[in-house]
This record gives sequence, C-alpha cells and structure tokens, in this order.
Amino acid sequence: YRWMSTEADKARAAAEPQPHEPTIFDKIINKEIPANVIYENDKVLAFRDISPQSPTHVLVIPKVRAGLTRLIRAEEKHKEILGELLYTASVVARNENLEDGYRVVINDGKNGCQSVYHLHLHIIGGRPLGWPPV
Ligand code: 5GP
Repeated sequence: YRWMSTEADKARAAAEPQPHEPTIFDKIINKEIPANVIYENDKVLAFRDISPQSPTHVLVIPKVRAGLTRLIRAEEKHKEILGELLYTASVVARNENLEDGYRVVINDGKNGCQSVYHLHLHIIGGRPLGWPPV
C-alpha cells in the first residue's frame, strides 16, 4: 500500500496494460458509461474530460484502438488514424472557439503521466496556458 496523492503519482504508478486489455474508453465507445460527446464520426470520438483542467478540455480517441495503447507503439498502419485524430483536434478547436490558442497534448507512458492506455489527444484551452509543463 502506498499513498497516491496526485494524478501524476497515480499515472506513474499505473502499469502499462497488455495491448488487448480494455480500458475505460472502450466503455465510453460502447456507450456502457455516459460521456459528454461533442464530435463523432466512424473513426474517432471526441468527448469532454471528466476532470477538466481548463474551460475546454476535450479528449479525442480512435474508436478502434488497434494496438495503439501509446503513441510510441504507432506503426505504419496507424498513419491514417493518427491523421484523423489531429484533424479532429482542429475541428474541435474551431467548434469550441479556441481561436486565441489552445494546446494539443499526448501523455505517453509513465513519465508522460499517461493513465489510460488507449491513445488519446487532450485539447486544452479557454484560458492562457503556462509553459513549460512541469
Ligand atoms: P491521460 O492521463 O491518460 O493522458 O488522460 C486520461 C484522461 O482521461 C484524464 O484527463 C481523465 O480525467 C480522463 N478520464 C478518465 N476516466 C474518464 C471517464 O470515465 N470519462 C471521461 N470523460 N474522462 C475520463
């Protein structure tokens, strides 16, 4: 047993699951748990983060994970979905009126504070953001 005080600690403590292990995002895709979906097509789903870090905090995920637990696991065959995800980020940014600026983030792995091992982009905006990230 150990204390896990922050989200970063929790993410760092989470082991990387096997490529086939389902995550909470599968339940969202399958509508087994509710999510505030703001954009969807046959390939991607965009929904509001349950724990928003800014006025706009949206997650964009592939509907089929296809082994993409982490960005570092990407293969040639994932190039198209990677493009879909980034293009969806631009659609979300326009729809959310983020003309003043925003950030697209992928937390990859332990040191990147990834907590859900189904590739996702964070679209964070609606306030001035600091840099560099800690
Ligand atoms: P990561 O830390 O892996 O980059 O980001 C995972 C994100 O998923 C976190 O920002 C967390 O708040 C969000 N999240 C985790 N579970 C749920 C959920 O059940 N619903 C929604 N909407 N977001 C979730």
